[in-house]
Amino acid sequence: MVLSRFEYKKARDVADAIALYKARKGKAVYLAGGTDLIPLMKQKLSMPKAVIDLKGIDELRSVTSKGGYVEIGANVTLFELKNNAVIKDNFPALHESLEATACETLQMRGSIGGNILQDTRCLEHNQSLEWRTARGFCLRSGGKACNVVKGSKICFANYCSDNAPALVTLDAEARFEGPEGKRAIKLASLFTGDAFKPFAVRAGEILTHIRIPVKKTKGAYEKLRVRESMDYPLVGVAVSSSGPGWNVCVTGVGLKPLIYEVRNTSEAGIKEIADKASSDARPAANTVVSPVYRKKMVGVLIKRAVKRAIGEGK
Ligand SMILES: Cc1cc2nc3c(=O)[nH]c(=O)nc-3n(C[C@H](O)[C@H](O)[C@H](O)COP(=O)(O)OP(=O)(O)OC[C@H]3O[C@@H](n4cnc5c(N)ncnc54)[C@H](O)[C@@H]3O)c2cc1C
Repeated sequence: MVLSRFEYKKARDVADAIALYKARKGKAVYLAGGTDLIPLMKQKLSMPKAVIDLKGIDELRSVTSKGGYVEIGANVTLFELKNNAVIKDNFPALHESLEATACETLQMRGSIGGNILQDTRCLEHNQSLEWRTARGFCLRSGGKACNVVKGSKICFANYCSDNAPALVTLDAEARFEGPEGKRAIKLASLFTGDAFKPFAVRAGEILTHIRIPVKKTKGAYEKLRVRESMDYPLVGVAVSSSGPGWNVCVTGVGLKPLIYEVRNTSEAGIKEIADKASSDARPAANTVVSPVYRKKMVGVLIKRAVKRAIGEGK
């Protein structure tokens, strides 16, 4: 698959990147590791006129601890983050989700910012232009209806970041800088559930940092996948706790993560949330395993993750 022609610009710093974006009147995308974006461009699912490379920006590459928070630059690679002492010592759910992401080669290239802002996925959508032309375009590709749930005017693609759920359970905040200035939002409120605009990111905004309050947590990440060596989550469940109760976040089933707070930490309380999440999940037949199985596994993985986090399971 050949890339279409595009203009390539390497930004010196965040202000330079925003100026490059503004000069192209919004007809540009940002590039970090490129492991999500470049395949989309090859498949002609994204055809930007210009690509602004953020990789050379030093201020986006560090992990710093100050004032009770750890601040992670968006360009920090998944591999660097996985091996960071603060992450290892305090956030088991995040450490495990980083370990479970793709394979080490991809972890060394892919950034945490790109991981959070990766596009949603579907077996009918993530295909070459030739494949999609022969099959008939789905809703996302400009067709009239979904090809998975026949006739549906709603897209059933899956948000598949392994690490956003762990960050959500750790109460992380996302910091942006863009043409309209700086702002910070809770990561949990980043997800819109809209297939055509899955993130509440304003035009030209750069995700600069992720900020997490540093507290010793219990936690775990459970992932359903076909190949242990490298695969997107078919279901992913992160659980974290820094006191009474659990934060739970589910990825891989639907356009945005499912988020829960567990206040009753008895076995019955955990089961109640596991059953609720299973019932809330609306998986479609757009991955390599059946929706019924994935729906059931949402609840199974929540119970399994909590058990493991409290040292009772394997
Ligand atoms: C074979 C394969 C297997 C994979 N397996 C997994 C997996 O198991 N789990 C998983 O979670 N992911 C997986 N991925 C997806 C991807 O590799 C990772 O999510 C990776 O972390 C993406 O980071 P990146 O830096 O390469 O993002 P890029 O491709 O550079 O960017 C992704 C998106 O984010 C935007 N972006 C990037 N940085 C910024 C920023 N700072 N500000 C604003 N916008 C930004 C880009 O414009 C683009 O839209 C896989 C990819 C491949 C090719």
